[in-house]
Amino acid sequence: MAVRELGRFGTVLTAALAAVAVARSPAVPDAVEHAARTYITRGALEAPVRFLSSDLLEGRGPGTRADRLARLYLQSRLEDMGYSAAFADGSWQQPFDIVGIKSQFPKSWSFQGKNARVDLVWRDDYIAVSGLQSESVALDDAELVFVGYGIQAPEYQWNDFKAVNLAGKILVMMNNNPDWDPNLFAGKRRLYYGRWDYKYERAARQAAAGAIIIHTTPSAGYPWQVVQSSWGGEQFELPAGSEARLRLKAWATEAATRRLLQAGGYDLDKLLAAARSRDFKPVPLGVHTSITFTNKLSRVQTANVGGVLPGGDPKLAAQVVVLSAHHDHFGIGEPDAGGDRIYHGAVDNASGCAQVLAIARALAALPQRPRRSLLALFVAGEERGLLGSGYYAQHPSFPAGRIAANINIDGGNIFGRTRDATLISMGKSSLDEIAAGVAKSQGRALKPDQFPDRGYYYRSDQFAFAKIGVPALFFADGTDFVGRPAGWGRQQIEEWELKNYHQPADKLDGSWNFDGMIQDAQLDMLSAWLVTQADAMPAWKPGDEFEAARKQALAALAGK
Ligand SMILES: [Zn+2]
Repeated sequence: MAVRELGRFGTVLTAALAAVAVARSPAVPDAVEHAARTYITRGALEAPVRFLSSDLLEGRGPGTRADRLARLYLQSRLEDMGYSAAFADGSWQQPFDIVGIKSQFPKSWSFQGKNARVDLVWRDDYIAVSGLQSESVALDDAELVFVGYGIQAPEYQWNDFKAVNLAGKILVMMNNNPDWDPNLFAGKRRLYYGRWDYKYERAARQAAAGAIIIHTTPSAGYPWQVVQSSWGGEQFELPAGSEARLRLKAWATEAATRRLLQAGGYDLDKLLAAARSRDFKPVPLGVHTSITFTNKLSRVQTANVGGVLPGGDPKLAAQVVVLSAHHDHFGIGEPDAGGDRIYHGAVDNASGCAQVLAIARALAALPQRPRRSLLALFVAGEERGLLGSGYYAQHPSFPAGRIAANINIDGGNIFGRTRDATLISMGKSSLDEIAAGVAKSQGRALKPDQFPDRGYYYRSDQFAFAKIGVPALFFADGTDFVGRPAGWGRQQIEEWELKNYHQPADKLDGSWNFDGMIQDAQLDMLSAWLVTQADAMPAWKPGDEFEAARKQALAALAGK
């Protein structure tokens, strides 16, 4: 996950407190509570973290021997628990390729308008990646068209493209989605419509040649330096299929965009103001450009790992609850100040794998099988851009319309028990009520995403499931730590992000306190069980951005 809410503090609570029982939840029978207490323990969580984050596992970089070892470990654990292989021909693994693309863009990118010629400087003014997986890409005399937010959202009666033919054009787009009126979209909350991946995808579907997103710090949520560092290097993708593709995906600074528009005689502020209306229509800018760049391509193979616990209800067993965590991390890379080159990924995401394993085991140990089937899924390539979950969503082992819910775990609390829990997915589906009930039974307050403008919901594997219409439960750590003053948790979390997140220092050590992770994994497990038992599948809240995808998935089932 891109940014985690985590921090560091020493073990404060006693071992006795670690064994505190899950409080009684009215809808959950004793046997299920008992399994949660018996199988979700410090030992069950710490052992897999120790193995997966050890030096021997070399940071689990995709395509490496360490990656294969991690997968074999996860598969063996599931097999040992009595799960069956999840994929075709009795396979525990679903292999796929990751394509690496290293592009060489020109130092200067020239544009010709009726008023002037403008040159944009690589990194200072623009950043771009290739849209095509080929060694050389060219755009010849393409015209720039300003398309406002680049959003088509029928449920919000919004369509920036109208009926304008944008084939072969380069679309210049604003970031984010309209956020000044809660009645227009979702207020300050960033939706999928507000993300760069949506915007490039939509531009491609318009048969555009390229797209330029205008960077401003408020609309992106991060400064230009973040664009430079996360887009400047090698990009990773699933192998190209039959989907529409842009030739070039770019970002430009606000100042650079202003110059581009001036070259065509347009004023950025006026165009931005016009784009705030449903009546906005694309504006051809009379600015043209040609550009050629080269790509170095590479390919590695990795795989998702999955095991199924068949449901006990003859009818509902055809439906599945997917419990997921990504198993990959960054492998071996640049050394830190202490010379450590192994990106251990202990919190991110050996701890998520450990939680899924413990939950899978607890659910398998119940005297009665859960009614719906359960898929324990360890996805690959999350750190490369949600690639494993994306591949699974395109090739699901159950039809999308039969996937009741995804419960995804990315990271874990290593700081102790909390009086609260954060539900990143809050407000999106009927899973909210299940999570609230279980949190209440644990005596915890359930809080929504504390940074709604950052779009955490779209930054881990549950997002791939949402795109095929599957609602998800996705928790983040609480921040109100037992026995700690207000503000302490957030401070620890920020410090951890600074010193450990996506660095070799994300490793297991004696400071870890598993009590909070136990709480959170029990919360996930009891929620998962309740979803497997409910008569009806969970549903998106009416009007949610992913409701249409669910309807489509259910219709596809009915049509079979
Ligand atoms: Zn990560």
